[in-house]
Amino acid sequence: MRIILFLVISILTYSANCQTSKTVKVVIDAGHGGSDHGNLAHSSQLLSEKELNLKIAFFLGGYIEKYLQNVEVIYTRTKDVYPSLDERVKKANANHADYFISIHCNHSERKTVRGTETHVHSMHLSKSVAFAKEIEKQFSARAGRKSRGVKDMNDLQHTLQVLKYTNMTSVLVECGFMSNAKEARYLNTVYGQEIIASAIFRGFRSTIEKEFPQVSFKRKKGQPQETSGSYSIQIMSSIRAVDEKDPVFNSLKMSVIRTKLKTTRKYKYIYKVGSYATRKDAKSGLKKVRNRGYKDAFIVSN
Ligand SMILES: [Zn+2]
Repeated sequence: MRIILFLVISILTYSANCQTSKTVKVVIDAGHGGSDHGNLAHSSQLLSEKELNLKIAFFLGGYIEKYLQNVEVIYTRTKDVYPSLDERVKKANANHADYFISIHCNHSERKTVRGTETHVHSMHLSKSVAFAKEIEKQFSARAGRKSRGVKDMNDLQHTLQVLKYTNMTSVLVECGFMSNAKEARYLNTVYGQEIIASAIFRGFRSTIEKEFPQVSFKRKKGQPQETSGSYSIQIMSSIRAVDEKDPVFNSLKMSVIRTKLKTTRKYKYIYKVGSYATRKDAKSGLKKVRNRGYKDAFIVSN
């Protein structure tokens, strides 16, 4: 009896430990580096791909470390050096990472091509595909980017070494086209880099929450601020608080942020969407918002 009791207690303790001690390991791989510049900027004022990749990688890793617990971030590079593709793969496999995220910026001969893509080795790798879809969803629904979807080696007509040989859930994110003048400018702003990184962060967070429901990842309330840009669009105000997730906002396809004003006026609550670095960007956002039914929306500076 005593032995059985001991066994039961041991098993219970063991499973309890399993539930709480899981640390998810994620490898963040800033593509290229050192002598390998990746795609070159089309102007001397803009950064080359290797530099953009590292900036976005740091924002992503920073968000994970700030907002999540039980996640360990491992970088393949933290400065301007070139680890070979083989070394990047080895580092991820040797660390028994659970996720591998490679960060890149795209190029096309056609200057009008723009948008994000997330690559997986094969569409048969369901976990990688689900993760990639989640990232692309965040890009289009929350970050206002044009999503070109999830692609695999058949779309590319060749394999990507870092996706093929890593043993874990692996994606390669193409954050935008440096060959498109507007997107290149966006990628070169801290604002753009933060928005891109926070979309990847959200895709990552919802993926690990689904895959490890027994682990508590949230470190504290909060998430990367979406109104960090200089301009937002105020869509309405109200007397009583309306939930930010209320279906009334569905037609916007944007996340709504409610603020309570310190005022004696009746309409205390204001609702804002979007976050734009320039007034020009805010104007194009405003057009969309008005087309989606908010005719009285206007631009506000944050
Ligand atoms: Zn690249």
